[in-house]
Amino acid sequence: MPECILPFRGPGILPVLILLMPRETPFTFSFPSPAEAITALLAHITPVDAAPIPLEQAAGRILAADVRSDRPSPPVDVSAMDGFALRLADIAAPDFPIAGEVRIGCEPPVLPLNACLRIVTGGAIPPGADIVVKREDTTEHAQRLAISPAAKSRLRSGEFIRRSGENLAAGSLVVSAGTPITPSVASALAAFGIAAPSAYRRVNIVVLTTGDELVSFNDTPTRWQLRDSNSIALRALLSPIPFVDCRHLHIRDDQSAMSDAIANALTSADALLLTGGVSMGHRDFVADALAANDVRTLFHGLPQRPGKPILGGITSDGRPVLALPGNPVSVMVTARRIAVPAILARAGAGGGTALQSQAPSQLQLTNPDAKPIDLWWHRPVRLTAPGHAELIDSKSSGDIAGAARADGFVELPPQATGPGPWPFYPWGF
Ligand code: AMP
Ligand code: MG
Repeated sequence: MPECILPFRGPGILPVLILLMPRETPFTFSFPSPAEAITALLAHITPVDAAPIPLEQAAGRILAADVRSDRPSPPVDVSAMDGFALRLADIAAPDFPIAGEVRIGCEPPVLPLNACLRIVTGGAIPPGADIVVKREDTTEHAQRLAISPAAKSRLRSGEFIRRSGENLAAGSLVVSAGTPITPSVASALAAFGIAAPSAYRRVNIVVLTTGDELVSFNDTPTRWQLRDSNSIALRALLSPIPFVDCRHLHIRDDQSAMSDAIANALTSADALLLTGGVSMGHRDFVADALAANDVRTLFHGLPQRPGKPILGGITSDGRPVLALPGNPVSVMVTARRIAVPAILARAGAGGGTALQSQAPSQLQLTNPDAKPIDLWWHRPVRLTAPGHAELIDSKSSGDIAGAARADGFVELPPQATGPGPWPFYPWGF
């Protein structure tokens, strides 16, 4: 028998029962909003282990421990200008002998009385000096220095001197655990001698797509088949995150195959993402296959469009499992809105980072419509100007071409209409 033809089970009472079933969604929602579901999920997630990592390889990773300054910044009083170090009390003299030079990176000589020393930006202030006059305000003649009268009248004690510790005192907090190692963080770590910061290890994400109708995007589908686009969408969403490794397997709609694949994935996955097979269809086996693997369901169904049938679960050791409804736009939206924060929490970046701002930016819609629905509504939008976006005409959660014209989506609460502003979630990072 060809795989596509399934045995007819005979009439009986089932068709009658189906006709009598209410047409409303069968989901009862454990949480009233996506935000509350995310908060509940994050509370169960355990971050991966941390270990020291060479600073040269640490870009983009997440700091696992607070970093403190090993010494003041700047370490000593230094000049903020190229010029001359002198004593304010001597300033009335018409000119000064140039007694020598402060070599940058070296201990400075003592400033002789009634004289000045050449100094460059970053040079240590010589003992006895209390001002720096910048070179532009001076003239030199025969090893003597004259300061312009205008500059003289402006000079104040401490002029152009950066005081030791004025940026940060020794032992102060430089950056906190949970911060991604951005270029400026890497620079600060280097400056304070953190050669091997403690960072959370990379996270392994396993993506399991499901569906008998799917072929690889490399293959030619029959008229009845579809190319799998969800695995590529998730890869494109997650791979740019510098600490994420992503692997994909496809499973047919068979409960024991699914259960085995989930068991196998859970031997290595830090977070498990599934697509499809999580709704109410008679061949949607994902929820049962997860339960068979002791994944605890925190929610199955959220009051949102798209993505209503989403299942959020947790393993006994605190790894997130998200089963995303299979429609390509549902996958994009629910992955961005719900799976990404869960993955970041597992990666140790849960507290709100450069990657996942706790407060999404807010956009005004230039073409709002008046179509309230009773769900949280994620609507694809295209950015038009700073702070503004337009709704994209999207036919359904299967309209991935519509989503491809959008830059991301805005989230409207139930019954909300109008221009907003509404929180905006870009597709990518
Ligand atoms: P499901 O959630 O399994 O009922 O799937 C909902 C819809 O999404 C169906 O039309 C599927 O064919 C489609 N779909 C499911 N998985 C994928 C995938 N990996 N790539 C593209 N379309 C998919
Ligand atoms: Mg399916």
